[in-house]
Amino acid sequence: MAVSFQQIEEKLKTEARRLLESGQVSLVLAWGRGFDEKHPMPYVAKGASDVDGIVFNEFCTHNLARYLVRYPRGTKMAVAVKAADSRAVVQLIQEDKVKRHDLVILGIPVYGIKNPKTGEIIDGKTTCGLYNPVLYDILIAEEVHGQPVSSPYAVLAEYEAMDQDARFAFWKKELDRCIRCYACRKACPMCYCDPCFIDQNKPKWGEKSPETPGNLMYHLTRFHHLAGRCIDCGECSRACPVDIPLYLFHKKVAKECEEMFGQAAGMSIEDKPVLVNFRMEDSDKILE
Ligand code: SF4
Ligand code: SF4
Repeated sequence: MAVSFQQIEEKLKTEARRLLESGQVSLVLAWGRGFDEKHPMPYVAKGASDVDGIVFNEFCTHNLARYLVRYPRGTKMAVAVKAADSRAVVQLIQEDKVKRHDLVILGIPVYGIKNPKTGEIIDGKTTCGLYNPVLYDILIAEEVHGQPVSSPYAVLAEYEAMDQDARFAFWKKELDRCIRCYACRKACPMCYCDPCFIDQNKPKWGEKSPETPGNLMYHLTRFHHLAGRCIDCGECSRACPVDIPLYLFHKKVAKECEEMFGQAAGMSIEDKPVLVNFRMEDSDKILE
């Protein structure tokens, strides 16, 4: 059965209104109207009168887990999540940035979400190949079954065929186009450091002007910081105004982490973050 975005929107509004009116949460993170239908925006409903501003359509790509860390600890929040977004919530709980008991997770099983810039359906390419949230309190629609499921790493084939020099040349060329707007950082639910290392002056970790050395420093450090934590939502790549395919690097690191440690980020609330957990059987390959 085709997913009805309209039905999802109506159910989201119903649940948001109920949660806010009952006082169970003080805010609901969802999507709201942007300047046109193709550009919905992250939206916060803080009272029942805000609920009518909630929308849901095929262009609701934003990962709203990004906004959970903006509120003081102890804030009771509801957050609407698609499959990859729910992995971000799980990862944030694992990292103790939010408490499970402060959240009401509104899980949205869905497929057919599109990149507003290209119109391309993003399922399976930059959204971790999942259709159903891995964690939720309230399911907003019936679970999706029967859709084609591809490996989240399938898009790496061409990249992995390059040798080391070709990969370096590829990334140097791509990262030279970076204008250092930091939209990738802003969109990422796992980029919550304040201040970010690149904004520090003492010590100064890297140049802030958009030139090769600083660009490499910013991106390679960010890729490293996301190792074992990126949940493959693809928001960084979609947010990039010059379309740098950041997802390729994140996926490659995620694939290696999964191969080495047998764990993908944000899949289970029972897991510990892979790079802060030590097990005797862990691979030593990371030290090579
Ligand atoms: S690095 Fe990109 S794909 Fe990974 S969690 Fe952050 S925004 Fe999502
Ligand atoms: S969003 Fe794109 S241009 Fe902006 S800092 Fe990130 S990679 Fe660079």
